Formats: sequence, C-alpha cells, structure tokens
Amino acid sequence: MPKSAYVHIPFCKSKCHYCSFTSGVNGGAAAYEPYINALKKEIAARYKGETLDTLYFGGGTPSLLDLQPVVDMFNLAKDAEVTIEVNPGGNGPGLPLEVNRVSVGVQTFDDKILQLIGRTHSAADAARALQSYENVSADFIYGLPAQTLEGFVSDLRRAVDLGVNHISLYGLKIEPGCAFYDNPPDVPSDEMQADMWLAAIDTLKDFEHYEISNFSRDGFQGRHNLNYWNNGQYYGFGAAAHGYENGVRYSNTTDVQEYLKNPLARETETVITPQMQLEEEIFLGFRKTAGIDVADINKKFGMDFNDKYAGVLTKYSQYFVNTPHGYALTKNGMLVSNAVLSEFID
Ligand code: SF4
Repeated sequence: MPKSAYVHIPFCKSKCHYCSFTSGVNGGAAAYEPYINALKKEIAARYKGETLDTLYFGGGTPSLLDLQPVVDMFNLAKDAEVTIEVNPGGNGPGLPLEVNRVSVGVQTFDDKILQLIGRTHSAADAARALQSYENVSADFIYGLPAQTLEGFVSDLRRAVDLGVNHISLYGLKIEPGCAFYDNPPDVPSDEMQADMWLAAIDTLKDFEHYEISNFSRDGFQGRHNLNYWNNGQYYGFGAAAHGYENGVRYSNTTDVQEYLKNPLARETETVITPQMQLEEEIFLGFRKTAGIDVADINKKFGMDFNDKYAGVLTKYSQYFVNTPHGYALTKNGMLVSNAVLSEFID
C-alpha cells in the first residue's frame, strides 16, 4: 500500500518559455475552487486511509491555492515529510500548517536570464523566498540561454550562502509544448551542460550528492523523491499526476477542464510485469549515488544479478564502482547513464 502521495496543481500566474509541464494559467483563479473540489472527489474515491510518510504538492505553483482542505483528507505520520513547491514573488493564501519542506523554483539568480526565460520574479525575490522558510530546497536549471559556467557556479554559491539545505538541478531540455520549442534560443552545448553538472558537484562538496541531480545537507535528503528512486509505490492525484499502486503505473488526464469534469478517469494504466519492475529498479537505483543493492534485487526477483548482467558489467566496467551493497555509477557513468543503463533492458 502506498505511503506517499503526489498532488499536482496545474496553475501558474504565467507560463515560462521553457516549460512543457501541465501548468500555466489554465482558467485562472476562477478554476481554483472547482479544482480543489475535483481533487477532494478523487482523493475521497481512491485514497484508502494509509498513514502517509510523504506528501508532495508539485506543479505548477501549488502555493497559489489554499491546500489545507486537501491536506486535511490525509492521515499523516507524526514525522511525515510534507513538501510544497513555491515560486519566488508569488502571493498565495498561505501554506498548509503541516508543510515542513518548501521547494523554491529559483532557476538562476541572473535577472537578465530570468527575463529571457519568462520568469516573472527577480533574483532578490528568490533570495527573499529562500530565507523565508526553515527547511528549504532550491531548484536551479543549467544550460539556460546566456548562462555561463561561472554564472551557474556563482548561483549555487549564493544559495549555499543563503543557508539552503537541499539543491535540485535540472538540465534545460526544450520539449514540444513550450515557447522555446517553436522559437529556440541559443543555449550552451551539451558538453557545456555536462561541465556545469560536474562543476556543481565540485561546488557543493559540503553537501551529500545522493542522486544524479540532488544534493543535501546531512539529514535533509528529499524522502518523497527517494521513494521514487527506491521504486516504491505512491498515489498520484490531480490533472497530469502519475501514480504507482499494486503493480500498476497510471496517469491522469493532462487536460485540466477534462479533469474537472471527471477526476476519476485515468488516461493510462500500465501493468508492470516482473521484468519491467526489475528494469525500473535498475534504472531508478542507479540514479542514486548509493547505487543498487544486489542482494535485495536477487531476493526480490529470484535471480543472480551478477550472472545475468555479467556482460554489461564487464563491457562498461569503467563506469561502475563497487559499493558495500552492490554497484553504483561513477561520475562519468552518470553522464552517459542512458547509454549504459539501456544495456540492462531485455
Ligand atoms: S516552469 Fe514552473 S512556474 Fe514556470 S510555468 Fe512551468 S510550472 Fe509554472
């Protein structure tokens, strides 16, 4: 039974040029109340009352809505991690009382770049937001138009100076559905993106680099996302939300109006076969710097991992390191992880 829930809030004040998530104005404030009602309907029908260890509000800009009535529907463990994503400079109705972790979309502290990518906040707004919460994670994007290696590193240093205890990095990807897809800007090369990622590891040496793109101070790993990388189950509520329950991965409609009409309709449902589960376990496990636990996999899937994958472990031996529990990817292995890990697919 899932002990984690993700709730998607598809509203933002405006749409950033690089964003192809289900987000944006989507009917504006007039749609907030109907959306909360639809969410309550979906949760009432699907949630089985488990005590949740983690609850995560993502988007979009979840802090635009009053989410207390939604939080009130869940049973939360005493030490549950309750995270909400916020955008700097946004005024909302206030965060639910139970929120104890705030993820701030900083993206960069460069005002010129913020403007280029369609963000409506300033670097000063972002700094203020980071200082407004006790347990805060900062999101940054690397590979942005006009961004330099030095500029990116100085962004990270500033976040560290402001006392954040968690940093998540996103390499810019321009995908269909965003303004940049139709009007592509000049962006740093793939090689420069890789250099930026490597520079982040050097800059954040005092943090634990616990997942390809995530860094934390001691004791501040994001528990909700760790559950994904541990291939755990989770509920997904809201338009465009994804979930994983009882061997089925599912997604809800990305059409907000459609969701308001019928919050119980699933857009996709995929039964995960044991082979798919094994492959997911490997793909997700290698995202963590702790890597995969071979004994655990052998037990779970009744197999001999070293024997089954001897070929790929030998072929790419320079990209793997031995850990007390199995294997992890080296830094260079993480840079080419898609190519390496695709060899584990049957
Ligand atoms: S990037 Fe974030 S703030 Fe910008 S439109 Fe997308 S979800 Fe909203």
